[in-house]
Amino acid sequence: MKVKQAEFVISAVGPAQYPQDALPEIALAGRSNVGKSSLINRMIDRKNLARTSSKPGKTQTLNYYKINQDLYFVDLPGYGYAQVSKSMRAVWGKFIEQYILEREHLKLLLHLIDLRHPPTKDDQAMFEWLKYNELPVCVVTTKADKVPKGKWQKHVKIIREALRMDKTDELVLFSSETGQGKDELWSIIKQYGEI
Ligand code: GDP
Repeated sequence: MKVKQAEFVISAVGPAQYPQDALPEIALAGRSNVGKSSLINRMIDRKNLARTSSKPGKTQTLNYYKINQDLYFVDLPGYGYAQVSKSMRAVWGKFIEQYILEREHLKLLLHLIDLRHPPTKDDQAMFEWLKYNELPVCVVTTKADKVPKGKWQKHVKIIREALRMDKTDELVLFSSETGQGKDELWSIIKQYGEI
């Protein structure tokens, strides 16, 4: 994917602020600090468009980034500082749950999991909730550069098992540091976004 243009559009706090140009939306979910901002920056080859190290507990917003005239990345608030409930409402405002369940233009959810560690209870609850609601999801294991290459498959296996992923569920090994997984992830995004 050749990114010619990338811009921050809005921090939306409700449906009235969502863009109306009907482009496909690719949302990112994951624990705080898992590497969501870094992933966006790496995918679009900008050092600092998406702000890294977003503070936990900050206002709950959907951060929209427009890429070319092709799609939006939608950065969801990080979870993991509060218990993830079955309904997700205790963690995220109702509007975020509604966004995930009802947004017509949402084509794919990237669920980021730190490759270094087994998934947390929150990660497991989140993935289970996404699958239960039959959302198109791709797990992206982040910070691969921090795990020796020889151990990648072992860590992937632990994550696949802990999340009870099916064989057909997508998983991409990713590093914002090295660019590992970038091309593969773009091709999945294009496929789901029909770009
Ligand atoms: P967010 O809270 O999910 O948006 O996470 P950030 O993108 O702000 O990343 C949190 C921290 O992890 C920052 O210090 C990043 O530099 C670091 N980080 C993110 N991705 C990677 C990666 O792929 N490799 C390494 N080594 N560090 C990463």
